[in-house]
Amino acid sequence: MKKELKLNYNQLNHWEELSDADQVLVQKAKGVMSNAYTPYSKFKVGAAVLLSNNTVVTGSNQENIAYPSGLCAERVALFYAGANYPNEKVKTLCIVAKGNLVSVETTLSPCGACRQVMLETEIRQDEPYRVILVCQNDVTIIFSSASDFLPLAFGL
Ligand SMILES: [Zn+2]
Repeated sequence: MKKELKLNYNQLNHWEELSDADQVLVQKAKGVMSNAYTPYSKFKVGAAVLLSNNTVVTGSNQENIAYPSGLCAERVALFYAGANYPNEKVKTLCIVAKGNLVSVETTLSPCGACRQVMLETEIRQDEPYRVILVCQNDVTIIFSSASDFLPLAFGL
């Protein structure tokens, strides 16, 4: 029996088409992106997490010469949220990036490890959260659940 997995998302031509509140998240993610430490990949990523108490926490990718020791922006932000606001739910995760690692037209997308963390964050809080991806060409993709990034996930 052949089956099919479907993925639903919304796409905008530019992040400035987002709501004012979401644009603030994009701006915060872009702001923290400049703090990325990326001497190896030269690929800077910023992440902003809106929590249920309206606090926004941010993260940028931090690399290390021992490559696996570095950490992606999404996980820096989500782990900071978990460490400092353990009782708040993630409402929105916004991710931006800049660099030549991928072409400007390439859809920005979290790595596999981040997808697993994003999903478990959602499972822990028992409530889906939105994920906003702002590509380098400003095309913006909005998902309504972190689970969209990891169908048939391990541990479910
Ligand atoms: Zn990652």
